[in-house]
Amino acid sequence: MKVPFFSFDGMHDTIKHEMLNAFEKVYDSKWYILGNNVKEFESAYASFSNTQYCAGISNCLDALVLSLQVLGIDSGDEVIVPSNTYIATVLAVTRLGATPVFAEPDKLTYNLDPENFEKAITSKTKAAIPVHLYGQPCNMPAITKVARRHNIFVVEDNAQSHAAKWNGQITGSWGDINATSFYPGKNLGALGDAGAITTNCEEWFERIKMLRNYGSSVKYYNEEPGYNMRLDELQAALLSVKLKYIYQWSEERVRVANKYIERLRGVKNVVLPYHPPECTHTYHLFIIRTDLRNQMQQYLREKGIDTLIHYPVPPFLQKAYRYLGYGEKDFPIAKNLADTMLSLPLYPGITDEQIEYVCKCIENFAKQHTGLQVFAESDKA
Ligand SMILES: *Cc1c(COP(=O)(O)O)cnc(C)c1O
Repeated sequence: MKVPFFSFDGMHDTIKHEMLNAFEKVYDSKWYILGNNVKEFESAYASFSNTQYCAGISNCLDALVLSLQVLGIDSGDEVIVPSNTYIATVLAVTRLGATPVFAEPDKLTYNLDPENFEKAITSKTKAAIPVHLYGQPCNMPAITKVARRHNIFVVEDNAQSHAAKWNGQITGSWGDINATSFYPGKNLGALGDAGAITTNCEEWFERIKMLRNYGSSVKYYNEEPGYNMRLDELQAALLSVKLKYIYQWSEERVRVANKYIERLRGVKNVVLPYHPPECTHTYHLFIIRTDLRNQMQQYLREKGIDTLIHYPVPPFLQKAYRYLGYGEKDFPIAKNLADTMLSLPLYPGITDEQIEYVCKCIENFAKQHTGLQVFAESDKA
């Protein structure tokens, strides 16, 4: 049996006609940049996100850059980021000349730990970027409380958790300003690069719309040096179609994840995802952990099962950030996660037989490797 890591079949095959219709409408409209499709998607996504404003942006990295820029983040400022995030979170900070300060995640949820966040604050800290990794919301009540106490802005990186909630409140609505990605493989994905910013601040929203369009509100009049960071009409029209299915697809992801969890619960030396009862998890990725990660990945590959590692090298150890001067021991939790994590295949459309086959193979692998010292019980808790 073959199990690919990811497949669009279960999503894109069922909505093909709707998507082609949307494409045809844009095609025939002969208006391809900043028109009604972008406006309509922005309005739908703002209401989905329970925020007043949404600005369509070229991608999430650009959305993070613009968000930090309108908050006034500049060189000399510090921005707190998780030590185990995807590189884009950190790239946005350094793009503005600011300094990324890494805070370790919680060992159980892999998300920014509010206490470590507070410890990382200095007199130079201007903002923090909690990242809802793998589809699970960070503890936003605790994080916003710390931020308020220290007068720090919160920018959510919501690239991986569309439709996830903490105490019923959706991600992308907690921070002062929030960035998201519609990269094709994200839970809500365009058919190319795309992203958005959500906020309740009209002033920031208006400035972002100007900055994303060359720093211009009135054509050929430029108020400040801007960028080309626009969401295009075609992606907006396609996203409007897919947005209608996001809850349905999230439920399917949760169903698959629960099957994995139920089936793998007793397997030795495998740590399963954990999320607190306050939050929902939309399983952008299904992560297990084991000390024998590389061997397990190789074993599964031989059995026809594709897995990936998110992410093999944390940002503070990337060559791009060697100049920051960090070593392996500086953020041991992030380093340990990078060494032990394995992402299993999960997507709407994966069959029960495929899930069972993946679980059976993991179980067989674990049986062949008994007596290993894997994790402290406290890790599993
Ligand atoms: C994908 C991703 C990004 C970057 O999104 P792009 O739209 O590709 O720029 C940023 N942060 C996180 C956590 C991501 O997973």
